[in-house]
Amino acid sequence: MTNTINTNESPSNILCKSCGLCCSGHLFAWVRLNAPELDSAQSLGLNVIRNDPRQRGFTQPCPLWDGMCTVYSSADYPRTCRTYKCVVLRRLLDKDIILPEALSSIQETLGLIGEIEPLIPASSGVSFRERLITHKEFLESNGKKTIELEFLRKTETLLTYYEDRFGVDDFIDYDLK
Ligand code: SF4
Repeated sequence: MTNTINTNESPSNILCKSCGLCCSGHLFAWVRLNAPELDSAQSLGLNVIRNDPRQRGFTQPCPLWDGMCTVYSSADYPRTCRTYKCVVLRRLLDKDIILPEALSSIQETLGLIGEIEPLIPASSGVSFRERLITHKEFLESNGKKTIELEFLRKTETLLTYYEDRFGVDDFIDYDLK
């Protein structure tokens, strides 16, 4: 957690400012934009991809994440960013869990990501998600050494967290839910 908690902030703000996983390239490699949003998103400073209609959006890590979203109040704030709420956030908003439980869930996920990061070799992938999946698929189709089994075990746990806590169960694409 890198931010000082302001007690006047809503629990959901506190949670998201302590996380950022849906902006940092850990959960998603890219985020979909509707065609009319492309120009305004580019003007905001997002890295827009527009040539393939099946993958029209912007890449992650989001360059506008700086410990918090820096364009949250912009009229051009993308619709997908406005509508995405992970499972932890939805449960917090529904009062199904309280803030300390939600923060603990995020911190546990961030801790596991921190353990996996040094086990991933450098690659051409830009986002953590791309590098994670590329390395996982490589190991699954090639031999595994002891250190790689550790990576695969931790990655399986992380992907369970991704599905249960963030609603991310596809590792090919991200679409509006
Ligand atoms: S992954 Fe969830 S808790 Fe984290 S910033 Fe996104 S919506 Fe907020």
